[in-house]
Amino acid sequence: CGVFGIYGHPEAANLTYLGLYALQHRGQESCGIVSSDGTGLHAHKRMGLVADVFGNQKVFEKLPGKSAIGHVRYSTAGASVEKNVQPIMVDYSRGSIAVAHNGNLVNANLLKAELEAYGSIFQTTMDTEIIIHLLAISRTHSLVERIGDALNRVKGAYCLLFLTESRMIAVRDPHGFRPLCLGKLGDGWVVASESCALDLIEATFVREVEPGEMLVFTKDGQMQSLFPFKKIEPTPCVFEFVYFARPDSNIFGRNVYQVRKELGRQLAREYQVDADVVIAVPDSGVPAAMGYAEQAGIPFELGLIRNHYVGRTFIEPAQAIRHFGVKIKLNPVRELLEGKRVVVIDDSIVRGTTSRKIVKMVRNAGAKEVHMRISSPPTSYPCFYGIDTPNRKELISSSHTLDEIRRYITADSLGYLSEEGLIKATGLKHSFCTACFTGDYPINFPMPSQVPQMG
Ligand code: 5GP
Ligand code: SF4
Ligand code: MG
Repeated sequence: CGVFGIYGHPEAANLTYLGLYALQHRGQESCGIVSSDGTGLHAHKRMGLVADVFGNQKVFEKLPGKSAIGHVRYSTAGASVEKNVQPIMVDYSRGSIAVAHNGNLVNANLLKAELEAYGSIFQTTMDTEIIIHLLAISRTHSLVERIGDALNRVKGAYCLLFLTESRMIAVRDPHGFRPLCLGKLGDGWVVASESCALDLIEATFVREVEPGEMLVFTKDGQMQSLFPFKKIEPTPCVFEFVYFARPDSNIFGRNVYQVRKELGRQLAREYQVDADVVIAVPDSGVPAAMGYAEQAGIPFELGLIRNHYVGRTFIEPAQAIRHFGVKIKLNPVRELLEGKRVVVIDDSIVRGTTSRKIVKMVRNAGAKEVHMRISSPPTSYPCFYGIDTPNRKELISSSHTLDEIRRYITADSLGYLSEEGLIKATGLKHSFCTACFTGDYPINFPMPSQVPQMG
């Protein structure tokens, strides 16, 4: 998912719309904006893309005020329903509050059972709603204390934006799994999942929100920084660099494009091959393919052309559609591939269906050899921290050897980037979460059947 918030700007809702537009890659299922005019909250949210949900200028008349938060939601199984569209907005004894969440809580079911035993009634099936219930029952006094209290009970990944009549509060979990950055636009403050959203609205990048940090924005234009959690070693999600974030964003202290290109260079160092041309699976494989080609001294070509009017195939709900998706989305340029030894670069293999179809497609276009190179290690474990990887059974590398996968995708050779190579290519010294590659989970998680739907 993606979150965006702005505090203290006369065009709050319009700018949030633009911010969400820049973050659309983080979630295509649904989106919403809640604004505050100082006395009440106003919401507009629906299933669908940002441009469709907010395409009508009239919508903004219903979103008055100088602050707003917004959310783009990313699909998970079973949760693709209207009632789960964020931001969540509730009225409780002390007024109204809205919340937008990127991430996934891992102890949600336990907390939910406990809250329901005390009489809480849930309106959605999202883990995010638990936070609202927890802060409503907190015995502390101020909202800031309540949020701190509630979040000290949840475990998992969260970047949160809260909006009340008078305040906006941003929180990044102590592990710092998901990116979150702070910007300034005129007298207003901006918080966004990725810096590409700041660029679009011409806000200046101030800094990243620190892991474990809470920022409280108040009417006088001030911002207060608090650290309400026990300090731990942060473990930001390395897969944001591999796939999820936009290449023009800077996250965790690095530019995503440059990291991706370095992933490709590192891949070439690890798995060199004699070939005539390097191509990418667009768009996610492009920077890595350019890095690979540069390092290997093999020309890079746009051998697969993407139809940009088709959504990301991975998001499609039904298996039948996903299979069809690769074909409607990509077409090879025969003239570049005929008779050639081709290196194909993609960022990851999840189920293996994309690679299998692409290898076939490239061969049908006349390639003599097809060498698949993946700019991350095998994805063998599911993510419980906000990326929609399928369960273990569906991850091809959880149950197949390298050679079995190579045969399944019908490639002449297959090479994945090493774990060490991945970390090295980030150029960063701090720790990362690499659990989907290594199984080394930074937070203990309940059994998969207990894992709730993400927000
Ligand atoms: P597969 O067909 O192996 O299941 O999917 C691999 C493709 O899915 C790769 O091209 C990769 O870029 C893409 N991919 C990997 N992870 C994700 C994800 O979390 N969301 C989406 N939309 N695509 C993904
Ligand atoms: Fe990121 Fe993978 Fe960790 Fe999930 S398991 S947070 S996708 S590195
Ligand atoms: Mg891809």
